[in-house]
Amino acid sequence: MSEFTWIDFLSSQPDLQENSVSVGIGDDAAVMRVPRGHELVMSVDTSVAGVHFPKDAAPYDIGYRALAVALSDLAAMGANPCWVALSLTTPTFDSDWLAELYRGFTHTFSQYSLTLIGGDTTQGPLALSVQVYGLVPTGSALLRSGANVGDIIFVSKALGQSALALEAAKRGEQTALAKSFYTVEVEIALGQALRDFASACIDVSDGLLADLYHICKRSQCGAQIEADTVCIDKTLLEKVEAKKALEIALTHGDDYALCFTIPASRLRAWQALRAKQFPHATLYPVGKIVEGDSVFVSGIEDLNLQQSGYQHGMQSDVVSNRSTGKR
Ligand SMILES: [Mg+2]
Repeated sequence: MSEFTWIDFLSSQPDLQENSVSVGIGDDAAVMRVPRGHELVMSVDTSVAGVHFPKDAAPYDIGYRALAVALSDLAAMGANPCWVALSLTTPTFDSDWLAELYRGFTHTFSQYSLTLIGGDTTQGPLALSVQVYGLVPTGSALLRSGANVGDIIFVSKALGQSALALEAAKRGEQTALAKSFYTVEVEIALGQALRDFASACIDVSDGLLADLYHICKRSQCGAQIEADTVCIDKTLLEKVEAKKALEIALTHGDDYALCFTIPASRLRAWQALRAKQFPHATLYPVGKIVEGDSVFVSGIEDLNLQQSGYQHGMQSDVVSNRSTGKR
């Protein structure tokens, strides 16, 4: 399959020309309509073979994951995803392989009413650069900069499973655990619900402490995490001892949970909406926003926080680990 037939292939797929798109694939650029009263939210995320996913991963899985991790940034902004563009660099234009990649990439399109508006193909080492576009009502995007002292910090899922999933995926296992590394669950609905409640939000792609630090930096505050409130994935707790599991849960990237802050004054209203709209979701309060400029973990001593995720190094000065000697 040559570059032009790949584009022809994309143009020929159904449901690519949604009515929100004035000009879609096939012209020099796409033209989209932004509804009145809304703002456009855009993010780009590049996935490189051997860096962000194992080189020998199945094309379906590669496509699925590349879109999911890009969408996670829209979730963190509270945006409703609308349009996607894919820039693909691939060593060969193998039509079966590309069709599988496309199948995985578009797997969640109908779930989110996404439209593919364009793309680009280049020959070279395998990499996918995914641009995602979403909409928010004007002025309502969730930012990293709104957290205030006293706000409660929440995380939207148990952490650390992705560390095991990555290892399983690297070993090429055909297990549900290995699969979960690729079929990342993105918190789109939660992000949108948080627009009216959260003071700040980020998705956990580099590890909870590193990502929470981004909120602190932008909000000019510090954060205190209570060690015994961090919800650690059950499988991880079965495999490694508790302290090591906590270290992994705090520092491993790729969980793609949302980490957000809720002002104490909004907590009751938020809990009421959560119970109604997300009755089965467990959201974990893990600490609070405090004065200062660092993220620290209380209630445990001598944590080794120098681990890193899959090529996601964590800056060692991010965390000043202070113990309150609580346990
Ligand atoms: Mg992010």
